[in-house]
Amino acid sequence: MPELPEVETVCRQLDPELTGRQIDGLEVLDPRWCRPMPPATLETAVAGATIEGLGRRGKYLLLTLDGARTLVMHLRMTGNLVLIEGERKLDPSEGRRLYEAERSTSERHLRARFILGDGRQLWFTDPRRFGEAFLIDDAELDGRFAKLGIEPFSDAFTPEALGQIAANRTVPLKSFLLDQSGVAGVGNIYADEALFRAQLHPLSPAGSMKSAHLEALRDGVIAALEAGIDGGGASIDDYRDGRGEKGTMQNEFLVHTRAGEPCPRCDGTIVRIVVSGRSTYYCPSCQVRLRRRPRKRRPVRRSP
Ligand SMILES: [Zn+2]
Repeated sequence: MPELPEVETVCRQLDPELTGRQIDGLEVLDPRWCRPMPPATLETAVAGATIEGLGRRGKYLLLTLDGARTLVMHLRMTGNLVLIEGERKLDPSEGRRLYEAERSTSERHLRARFILGDGRQLWFTDPRRFGEAFLIDDAELDGRFAKLGIEPFSDAFTPEALGQIAANRTVPLKSFLLDQSGVAGVGNIYADEALFRAQLHPLSPAGSMKSAHLEALRDGVIAALEAGIDGGGASIDDYRDGRGEKGTMQNEFLVHTRAGEPCPRCDGTIVRIVVSGRSTYYCPSCQVRLRRRPRKRRPVRRSP
């Protein structure tokens, strides 16, 4: 499932390609993609629009259009947003031959495609069909994302802010990181990687972190996400970047999917457990399991 680094990779690749381009047409092949808006309504609204940029909020892709509107897209489980060069000669050095081989498969999973003014096409493919899109006025964006948590790469992501979100929470740290209303953009892969970097056990209660733990977790989240972006995202299953190529982060995982392998930091062995229904990988030897803080005792009143 694409997380912040995968979505960010797509953004960084496609933003310079798309900015300033006109959308000659949009073809929605799967009504589920943009429901409840009827495909024809969205197609008409978007046709002729000029793209002002492609951005990201959490795991959402934001295609900014002229007229102060944004087409918001979410890749969910298996969605991909890929720029297709059309009939133009493809550059093999960019690995496009790989994509050509997969192209017939992608066509079967095509949910929507944008026809761009320069002859290229932007495809939204999605085998599982959980991906979605909706058109929104820019004035409504903040309200729409009001419940989305802190952006990890923003100045607001401080140990203190993390502490405020975690205060009095008894949920395991793994579940805490997966909750998009706390920290936005972290999913199953990068939660494991961040907790390993922070040397924190995934089952530690979120509210049990002290200031040193909060700082370690903040740094761990940022470092794990940066590693993911450096690796061009992780392609365990269906993820492909904006050019249709696999990321390499799956080769760089410290603990995720590494059950039975030696810990990269100590003599321990990585194990797999299930937390909140999600596979979770950690090292039992060097990731500290914090205990719930004991409740403050009420002073006992003594009768005179
Ligand atoms: Zn270890």
